[in-house]
Amino acid sequence: MKPMSLKRVVSSLLLPIMLLALVPGTVSAEHHGNPGIGSFLDCDPALVPPRCVSVGNDSIHRVYIDPSVPNGIAWAVRRSMSGDYGPTHLVMRVQSRITRRTDVIVRAGNYGQNGAAGWVWCPPSSPQGVNGHGDRWCRHQRLFFNLNPTYRAFFADRGSRAYMACHELGHTIGLRHWGNPPISDGPARPTCMQPDVPNGPTDLHRWDIEDINMYYALPATSL
Ligand SMILES: [Zn+2]
Repeated sequence: MKPMSLKRVVSSLLLPIMLLALVPGTVSAEHHGNPGIGSFLDCDPALVPPRCVSVGNDSIHRVYIDPSVPNGIAWAVRRSMSGDYGPTHLVMRVQSRITRRTDVIVRAGNYGQNGAAGWVWCPPSSPQGVNGHGDRWCRHQRLFFNLNPTYRAFFADRGSRAYMACHELGHTIGLRHWGNPPISDGPARPTCMQPDVPNGPTDLHRWDIEDINMYYALPATSL
């Protein structure tokens, strides 16, 4: 998400959720003050672009990468799945076709100057529900990479693509932004969940990994 105006909009939308996350006894990761993992934003199709963050329905996260995704970006997504999320409780699997159990459908295209280099959405048609934490889970989430030239910097080199892949995949499992007040005072430590930093941190912070492992159970049969 590039322009400041959008950042402010997202920040304002996040305020009530941040306050909720501070209520003791919630799933928020109180060990470090980060609100951790959860769903946020209504998946209102009228938003431009339509976007919302949902959690996965379980620990196995199946990702289908559409042929519209350029090779360099597809490679970054696969590498992030194994390198960034592989060490967590999540089991990330690339799918060669969309099935009923697909969690994420990755697409790329020139979507115009819509304010976002990448975003995630749970369309009304997707299988979805509410889990025991009160979060919206969603399968068939859409992950879009915007190839509009405005956002060229976000895909211009391997580091930027790695950042984008790690960041947007994080949203598909419910990770929120760091360094995006009022979520936190600032990115004291590097994480790909910082917003708006092409060529920014390419990896998850260990607190992100702790959040993931607190939220998602290790699958009983992982492979
Ligand atoms: Zn983001």
